[in-house]
Amino acid sequence: AIEKIAKKRKEKVYMVGGIVRDIILGIPNKDIDIVVEGEGIAFAWDLKNELNGEKIVVHEKFKTAVVIVDKDLKIDVATSRVEYYEYPTSLPSVDYGSIREDMYRRDFTINSLALEVDYQKFGELVDFFNGYRDIQNREIRILHNFSFVEDPTRIIRAFRFASRYDFKIEEETERFLKDAVENGFLKKISWPRVKNEFKIILGDKNPEKALNFLEKYDVLKNIHHNIKLTEKMKKHLEELNSLGEMFSQLKLKKWIMAFLILMEDLKSDEIELIFNKFSFSQDFRKKYEFGIKKRSEALSKLKKADKNSEIYDTLNEISFEVLMLIYLEGKKSSREKIRKFIFDLSKIKPLVTGADLISVGYKPSPEFRKILEDALYRQLDYKGITKEQLMSNINK
Ligand code: ATP
Repeated sequence: AIEKIAKKRKEKVYMVGGIVRDIILGIPNKDIDIVVEGEGIAFAWDLKNELNGEKIVVHEKFKTAVVIVDKDLKIDVATSRVEYYEYPTSLPSVDYGSIREDMYRRDFTINSLALEVDYQKFGELVDFFNGYRDIQNREIRILHNFSFVEDPTRIIRAFRFASRYDFKIEEETERFLKDAVENGFLKKISWPRVKNEFKIILGDKNPEKALNFLEKYDVLKNIHHNIKLTEKMKKHLEELNSLGEMFSQLKLKKWIMAFLILMEDLKSDEIELIFNKFSFSQDFRKKYEFGIKKRSEALSKLKKADKNSEIYDTLNEISFEVLMLIYLEGKKSSREKIRKFIFDLSKIKPLVTGADLISVGYKPSPEFRKILEDALYRQLDYKGITKEQLMSNINK
């Protein structure tokens, strides 16, 4: 479809960035980035119509658009600056003028490849900076010496790609990276962007290598001077993969669990500082910050909990991601209780509802919740108890 529209519109179109890298590596990637030398937004509209896409989001200011084809496919369309030269004849070749510039702004050679997907040279790899060679040699290499100084987020991105693909950071690149860290450029980093990179790193299958780099080059220290990667954390991070499989129906957010593991040994006020630094939403904080602070208390309470209602009461207000951390810390019996809660107790529907209370004459009041909770707890503890038995108890 891209080729067809490019032909109609007579524009040069390239697939760029991560998708080209992953095609060469033979790894699936669902985010397609394309660059149009021409009118990116108009191209995106044509693409949406041609593919019968669900939605399009346009950013006029940046001349970009996102075509959401369906839930599995998203195409980002950008416009590469088309330059107008006053004396075109004085330039030997402006054929690749704007795409070259676009590629030059990228972070690493492995991400600076373009694949032409228009009618002229469909399938031709456009490789200005030896990206193909570096992918073959499994090396992360910057495009110019000031790369990390220009954008320190690239420091974290280097670790991310090195870890995910098990690539090495090329020697000179590592030297420039080290210089940038030693000269304090991490202080200039933008935290929202770090947050994004962290989400991706921590959600990847094996984040350990990246985290070792992040520790070695003081990135973790920059988040909080007391974050240290311990053996216990590494073990927990490793165990996350199998937890994900065991509890797959819960659709746990792996990056959140890994993020919370990094905070395992910190005190409450230190955790708070980090949540502030990353500007997490109130909702997010309510769900995770509170839970992570309370988790040791919850674990000791859980050890003593025998009755179903006690297990329920201990775990009910804790998000599943935090429950997994308690699970990792817990011994066999606590683990069984957590499993019982997740797969059984948390799914039980209360026999007595608010409507039942109203029907026997209760008015909505603060007491209401307590009565319903008592009824549910009794239901959890006495297997086979009926609604009538519970109601007769309430009516007393
Ligand atoms: P992933 O598969 O994890 O999404 P990706 O390479 O697509 O990897 P993105 O963060 O989505 O990574 O970035 C898309 C492209 O944009 C990259 O391939 C890279 O060329 C470019 N890019 C992203 N961040 C930067 C940056 N900080 N500096 C320069 N180029 C960047």
